[in-house]
Amino acid sequence: MHCHLLLAAGLLAIATPAAAADTVLQCGHLFDSRTGKLLGPHTLTVRDGRIAEVTAGHAAAAAGARGIDLSDRTCLPGFTDLHVHLGSQSSPQSYSEGFRLDPVDYAYRSVGYAGKTLSAGFTSVRDLGGEVAPHLRDAINQGLVAGPRIFAAGKSIATTGGHADPTNGWNDALSHLVGPPGPTEGVVNSIDDARQAVRQRYKDGSDVIKITATGGVLSYAKSGDAPQFTTDEVRAIVDTARDYGYRVAAHAHGEEGMYRAVDGGVTSIEHGTYMSERVMALMKKKGTWFVPTLYAGRFVADKAKIDGYFPDIVRPKAARIGALIQDTAAKAYKTGVKIAFGTDMGVGPHGDNAREFLYMVEAGIPAAYALQAATLHAAEVLGVDDQGVLEAGKRADIIALPGDPVADIGNVLKVDFVMKDGAIHREPVR
Ligand SMILES: [Zn+2]
Repeated sequence: MHCHLLLAAGLLAIATPAAAADTVLQCGHLFDSRTGKLLGPHTLTVRDGRIAEVTAGHAAAAAGARGIDLSDRTCLPGFTDLHVHLGSQSSPQSYSEGFRLDPVDYAYRSVGYAGKTLSAGFTSVRDLGGEVAPHLRDAINQGLVAGPRIFAAGKSIATTGGHADPTNGWNDALSHLVGPPGPTEGVVNSIDDARQAVRQRYKDGSDVIKITATGGVLSYAKSGDAPQFTTDEVRAIVDTARDYGYRVAAHAHGEEGMYRAVDGGVTSIEHGTYMSERVMALMKKKGTWFVPTLYAGRFVADKAKIDGYFPDIVRPKAARIGALIQDTAAKAYKTGVKIAFGTDMGVGPHGDNAREFLYMVEAGIPAAYALQAATLHAAEVLGVDDQGVLEAGKRADIIALPGDPVADIGNVLKVDFVMKDGAIHREPVR
């Protein structure tokens, strides 16, 4: 026993230069997501996937440590996109592909989407709907494919005929063959169903719950804004979710359904198109977050101009709703509703996520706030306290880009260094 201890001590002595495996980043500037300020030169020491030290100035890397010169770059916490769908990407073929492709086809596609998302500087995403995401999350965590850390909802929870009812638009023969979808498929019509649907998501390995509180733009259904849950159903979902440590994100365009979702206790409102003063006041009172997804709004409004891009039942919704979201975000920001970052990628092309920052700034949101929305705020929405800020002890999710993103938000499109959990995914070409 004594011998073993000595041996262990000896090994420890030899192993200590494992600190030699440190990675030391010398950053020209550092974005402080707590204050929204751009700081001067800083050195970040990364060890075992975490940030071990943050020091002002440029400290020389210790012997054996790997030094990375980012002295002409600004370092930021890795971005988080709180609203993506890594299992798909919309196109005029999306609607028919649902009948032709197998889950494995979507899974292969998602690998490419995940890689593009990480390369763009998004080290975390919340995937709000899609059966691929929990599996993709596991494959990424196992190091099988490159991608962001995924917080996955799995299948969204809807009501019959509502946004995310997987059988919308099917013909009678097919509908009767498959039968009406239920809580397992994410369709609920009562409080008991609502509870069961959350428990099913737990069984499926979800990390977060997504509900479709109102109609949606891209679903094969007429209304983009009808309320689609009762407040009691929302409450049953939120309460059951809490039992499993889950938070609830609510897709919502229409005012009444949005109000019920906030009243029922959801953590975030996604899209928020027809957000009224009544809804904003309740959100402020309850601390509900707003994830505007401006990218998706602009993307669908744009594509609605193209004949045949969307089915006839979708086109007017895309034209009308898409155009409104940016004004809503401007109003919500001025009113003091808390805003976090999300794009709804999968509507738009994966990897173009950072363009959302430009749209936020166009809506009158200050650049520093937009950067906080994708870092510190996003971590708060997720309910995690080990990311979204560059501090000792936090995950080493670090990105870098040339220039000052606070002075010119366009620089977010130039991310060329990406580290996730201390592993370098991308480095500047020198
Ligand atoms: Zn979405």
